Amino acid sequence: MHYYSAKNIMKKFAVLGNPIDHSLSPQIHLEFARQSNISIVYIKKFVPLDSFKQIIQELKNDDFHGANVTLPFKSDAADIAQHKSKEVVETNSANTLTFNTHDITADSTDGNGLLSDLEIKIGSIADSNVLLLGAGGAANAIIPSLQKAKIKQLFLTNRTMRRANDMQQFWSKNYNNIHLMENIDLNDIHIIINATSAGVNSDESPIDLISANKNLICYDMMYGLKTPFMQMAEKSNLKCFDGLGMLIQQASLSFYIWHKQKVDTKKIEDDLRSII
Ligand code: NDP
Repeated sequence: MHYYSAKNIMKKFAVLGNPIDHSLSPQIHLEFARQSNISIVYIKKFVPLDSFKQIIQELKNDDFHGANVTLPFKSDAADIAQHKSKEVVETNSANTLTFNTHDITADSTDGNGLLSDLEIKIGSIADSNVLLLGAGGAANAIIPSLQKAKIKQLFLTNRTMRRANDMQQFWSKNYNNIHLMENIDLNDIHIIINATSAGVNSDESPIDLISANKNLICYDMMYGLKTPFMQMAEKSNLKCFDGLGMLIQQASLSFYIWHKQKVDTKKIEDDLRSII
């Protein structure tokens, strides 16, 4: 006689990072599963810095179906996969792994998550001039999606300009609308995206917004705290969004990859805003 316990039929997922305690991914995925009438297991897994490969093997041995990956393992996640989406190939960063019987598929939903959130919050960003602050993993990961949205010009700046310069050189091989902005001039900028981690390690905004034109849209990829960038945008009466919506949208895209179900993202955004 065959029988299946609930445990046997539930697909298992994890979010991997270091640190990982702060992650909201389990709550988000469990809400999407509830809406879709699917039972899943979704756990947080702390990964020691030198153990990413080993943990992936353990999850596979334990019949996990997939994993989300966060800092600092997104490039390890890209490297470990045999099949990679276009975004993963372009950015060498992956946040969604699917464990197939014999191999691993990697996707990156960060950039398209940001794009979906921007489209929900402000509509199409086609023909906009965008200033991107930061030259780390998050800034690089969103460039293909900004280009897919047909922005007009993309300006890059960073605390360490050498890194912004390297980034401009790298991406200019594929796109001809990317420029460095060493001396900040916000006159023709429509949207600023803050992809720095200045909100956690500094009480100063990475950019002065006081003289910005009043239609400038500000977006900080950080969530869970009001960063000095957000505070300055607010003081300057500018429209400003945090990165919670991006987090939720990238999760909904991961959820679609694994379950082929589209979900409503509004409820979980409202729920999380009331507790963070
Ligand atoms: P990295 O460590 O790779 O890069 C950090 C960037 O921030 C660098 O460009 C660094 O500049 C800059 N920076 C750090 N401190 C300061 C400061 N005090 N003033 C000015 N610039 C500073 O981080 P990530 O790119 O991975 O992440 C960046 C942010 O994006 C994080 O806050 C993260 O939480 C957020 N994020 C949000 C997501 C979401 O779903 N909402 C998804 C992914 C990331 P320098 O080169 O000079 O060191």
